[in-house]
Amino acid sequence: MSKALLYDATVCIGCKQCEQACATKNGLPYDDAVAAEPAQSEHKFTVVMTKNDKFMRRLCMNCAEPACASVCPVGALRKTALGPVIYEESRCMGCRYCMVACPFSVPKYEWGKLTPRVRKCTMCADRVAAGQQTACAEICPTGATKFGERDDLMAEAQKRIRDNPSQYVNHIFGQTEVGGTSVLLLSSVPFEEFGYHTNLTQDPLPMYTYRVLQHIPDFVPLGGMVLGGIWWITHRREEVAGAERHVTAIRPDENKGGKR
Ligand code: SF4
Ligand code: SF4
Ligand code: SF4
Repeated sequence: MSKALLYDATVCIGCKQCEQACATKNGLPYDDAVAAEPAQSEHKFTVVMTKNDKFMRRLCMNCAEPACASVCPVGALRKTALGPVIYEESRCMGCRYCMVACPFSVPKYEWGKLTPRVRKCTMCADRVAAGQQTACAEICPTGATKFGERDDLMAEAQKRIRDNPSQYVNHIFGQTEVGGTSVLLLSSVPFEEFGYHTNLTQDPLPMYTYRVLQHIPDFVPLGGMVLGGIWWITHRREEVAGAERHVTAIRPDENKGGKR
């Protein structure tokens, strides 16, 4: 069974404790300035948006069939059986195709760092694997963010709409979008008002990736070789620089007066 998050904006009070818990979980800074930032970034994996007295969360949707993973040439992004879409930085070669492919503009890049990574919510994959709920669901004081089995949460979301049709937009965002996601959203105001696109295909996006790739058979291996080469050269430089630092540390005299 696949896990998921259900966010019900009608019971959210905008306290942003989910933002703070996410930052703590992921070792990210969080203060008043970060709390005031209105968008996801490489140091803010989830954001609680406010419009008048309404709220809406944004985070990685952890798609059932993620476009980000389908375009990654080295398999740095991967959907796990439990639901989270994880990222392995040791595999990443920095091509950033995932950022282009994501229909929700989620992955961000550490542009200012020497060894940049792609950054995004990974649905607290380690916690989920250990049988825990996500940090944002655990902290939520109203139950607006709830963790559980996707099938159960889907049934609960449908019941909430059925029981209070005037309170909700008659749509569970994430039920079918791009083939379904592991984050489900309920709202009393149209999702478009918070920047969500509601005209997304119901087909999994990787289908389109594969269709495009099968028509350009020569480009793919060539592109992979070029990108792989760039990745190898970059990592090789880092290895050489690291070895040089090591030598300097253990034989400092060799670097004082040039070669002997
Ligand atoms: S929302 Fe974007 S980054 Fe997250 S799993 Fe889906 S395609 Fe990947
Ligand atoms: S699931 Fe985890 S990583 Fe994702 S927003 Fe919640 S706390 Fe952050
Ligand atoms: S912790 Fe819960 S109530 Fe507070 S902003 Fe996040 S989702 Fe809303």
